[in-house]
Amino acid sequence: MGSYEENYLAKRPQSLCNKCGRCCRVVTTTTPYEKLKEMYKNGDKKAVDFLSLFEPYESIEAARKVDSEVVDNIIARLSEDGNYKEEETTFYYCKYLRDDNLCSNYDNRPALCIHCPCTPWSIVPPGCGFEGWLFWKREEEKQKVRKAKEDLLELKLLKTKTKDPNILNKINIVEQKIQRNIDLFKKYGSENW
Ligand code: SF4
Ligand code: SF4
Repeated sequence: MGSYEENYLAKRPQSLCNKCGRCCRVVTTTTPYEKLKEMYKNGDKKAVDFLSLFEPYESIEAARKVDSEVVDNIIARLSEDGNYKEEETTFYYCKYLRDDNLCSNYDNRPALCIHCPCTPWSIVPPGCGFEGWLFWKREEEKQKVRKAKEDLLELKLLKTKTKDPNILNKINIVEQKIQRNIDLFKKYGSENW
């Protein structure tokens, strides 16, 4: 069966990558650089993987000089979600990216590279070969959530038709399970789908 991420990653067609290198040349994290360094010192696997590849740009302007479209796209997307804090934002470049946009560390690249873009909601650079595919993946997930919401309404109706405590209890359990699945997508806005 596998987790959502495993299933998603297994289906992701790698061939869509057009090897533009933009997702390696200008990236950011929602965790501030100072915090990342602290996590690195404490041996946090994700921070170690990230900082073993990525070097910080001196400033947001320095990153903008390299690829302003990617910087502005990331800032716009983070701002939309209320997650952009300029004073806590650092952009980075990977030291393994070659001038021809290929990876000089390909066989040893960590999971964070292998899994990129790791969810249908990942921020990818404009023109990334995965853009269209990610759009459809998001639509598929929204469709499933809408169906789950319909199921909840039907269960609510069903509850008005019985007074049997056993049946009501079973319905409540199913309702809670469905609601938990819907809530997994809350951070992506599932309340509005
Ligand atoms: S931005 Fe998209 S198309 Fe370009 S290298 Fe990264 S994954 Fe591939
Ligand atoms: S290790 Fe390779 S794939 Fe990973 S960010 Fe660097 S250049 Fe890109």
